[in-house]
Amino acid sequence: MIYADNAATTKMSEAAIHTMVSLLNETWGNPSSLYEHGQKAKEVLEKAREEVAAAIGAEPREIVFTSGGSEADNQAILSAAALGKKNGKIHIISSAFEHHAVLHTLNKLEKEGYEVTLLDVHENGLIVPEEVEEAIREDTCLVTIMTANNEIGTIQPIREIGAICRKKNVLFHTDAVQAIAHIPVNVADDHIDMLSASAHKFHGPKGVGFLSARKGIRLTNLIEGGAQERGRRAGTENVPGIAAMTAALKETCGKMAENAEHLTKLRNMLIEGLKEIPHSALNGDAERRLPGNVNFCFEGIEGESLLLLLDDRGIQASSGSACTSGSLDPSHVLLAIGRVHDVAHGSLRLSLGEDTTEEDVRYMIRSVKEVVEYLRGFSPIWRDLMSGKKEFIL
Ligand SMILES: *Cc1c(COP(=O)(O)O)cnc(C)c1O
Repeated sequence: MIYADNAATTKMSEAAIHTMVSLLNETWGNPSSLYEHGQKAKEVLEKAREEVAAAIGAEPREIVFTSGGSEADNQAILSAAALGKKNGKIHIISSAFEHHAVLHTLNKLEKEGYEVTLLDVHENGLIVPEEVEEAIREDTCLVTIMTANNEIGTIQPIREIGAICRKKNVLFHTDAVQAIAHIPVNVADDHIDMLSASAHKFHGPKGVGFLSARKGIRLTNLIEGGAQERGRRAGTENVPGIAAMTAALKETCGKMAENAEHLTKLRNMLIEGLKEIPHSALNGDAERRLPGNVNFCFEGIEGESLLLLLDDRGIQASSGSACTSGSLDPSHVLLAIGRVHDVAHGSLRLSLGEDTTEEDVRYMIRSVKEVVEYLRGFSPIWRDLMSGKKEFIL
């Protein structure tokens, strides 16, 4: 079996599992309790906060542990919106290919009277910093742009965008869920005010993540209750999950350069191989992309059939985001980079992991080539393309 869907979720590392199990067995107290067992859990929690903060250049008190990336995105955006409204600022800038945790939160705000500008991500899947600057208005309260895209892997110029926001005195949030532990991100150097991350995208457990919010930014509470997380997130802390996330973060960050080198080599090999398929195209910039991300469109086929046949051959991949698979709508990310519906339907995302091998890549290239050819053999769209009834786009 070849697991090539690491952008959807990753396997927990041994270190993360070990940390989690030992805490479940031994340090299961409530960090708010004053007796020793609770205080031990509190120590684990605060040590985790220090280590998470250190990994991204933040201060420990700037870290709020959440249930994952979606919650962190919601909290960051709703907080900036609430702060903005107090000063009559109701304009938010984002991009058309953000994760749904961002886009759906923005939709909700639009219904409440906020104005949202979605920037063009162009054909290469990249934001142009100057266009961020041009879009900023007197009443802009937030710019939220993801660090790396979950479908096509493109890496945004967040440092430039952050510098512009700082200069213009506008809050900058970045959904860094796909980037953390895979490429360097530093909230101080990159001028990031708020950052979202999720453990299960870097070999930690699901249901845990964090929001980093620069001190002085008053966060809106999504959950009312106790005073945990300095009153920014009520509910007894998931100490085993948080500690396991921290173990995974330290481990994966420690091997970041080595992993990136290995993955970039495999990624480029896979891209070169798949490019040989006629009427195919890589989605997103070839260089400014995550080390393990490959995303292609193949004209004349359905992504769903491709996935099922690859699964039969032991290859687990995706046609885009896990959230939209199962629906017939093409990916909003592929539409945002200008792919037309027919072409966007024939997409395939292979997101490699640290244990992917060259042999796996060769097998994937061979399998995708054969399956695409097979599917085209009885595709009515392909027949129309070949007979000239329809024109090729790719
Ligand atoms: C996975 C993902 C999320 C959601 O994180 P969860 O922890 O699953 O809620 C948000 N943004 C991006 C870019 C993601 O890839």
